[in-house]
Amino acid sequence: MPFRAVLFDIGDTLWHSRGAPPVEEFRRLAAQRAAEELRKLGVNHADPATVARSAWTALEDAMRRARATDLVEPDYAAVSQAALGRLGIDLSRTQAGELLEATYVSGIEGGKSPYPDARETLLALRRRGFLLATVTNRAFGGERFRADLRDAGLDIGWDAEAVSVEVGYLKPHPAIFRFALDRLDARPSDVLMVGNSLAEDVAGAQAVGIAAAWKRSAPDAEGVRPDFVFDQLAELLDRPELQAHEP
Ligand SMILES: [Mg+2]
Repeated sequence: MPFRAVLFDIGDTLWHSRGAPPVEEFRRLAAQRAAEELRKLGVNHADPATVARSAWTALEDAMRRARATDLVEPDYAAVSQAALGRLGIDLSRTQAGELLEATYVSGIEGGKSPYPDARETLLALRRRGFLLATVTNRAFGGERFRADLRDAGLDIGWDAEAVSVEVGYLKPHPAIFRFALDRLDARPSDVLMVGNSLAEDVAGAQAVGIAAAWKRSAPDAEGVRPDFVFDQLAELLDRPELQAHEP
């Protein structure tokens, strides 16, 4: 039975960060934005760099814990609120969430570049009649993430977007794959998942009965067998399972 839809991981599958600025530059920008945000909120703090670092470290710790345990997305605004509270900065959950997001250096500014064949491959699959969806782990979704996709030329009119922080679960949790299936009105056997992580993309998809293609990367799991392996996205267009099909 041919596939009707293709699900795509984003990081290191459709875009990469090889041209990302050095970590000091991220920190400089984050501190600058934290200072602006604190000014807007009328909060005096002598060290915006520490404010940005504390909120960000709390986010990373929460994310790591979630990945190691239940794969439920943390409430990052509440995590930021608690971290800032420990610095004596008393903000509402919403304000703390905004401050955290303001310090996030994303998209092209954060060094994201699409793989050169990404957009064309997606558009070719679309022309062949496949529904296309994202299934991505990220701590920030919303309009800003969509703008980052747009800037990278990856705004191809997705039929569904499963963003972990919006869905509430991280890959490889089955719920994020099921969310995408629901939105596409597809069954697992209708769908191919494409991603670079054996643990999150391949094992996660296969656990709910979705076939998975692995974009060869440093392996992050043992004993996981992708349905097939490729190196360049454009190779997908030669796969027999992904030829044009009757709707
Ligand atoms: Mg990835």
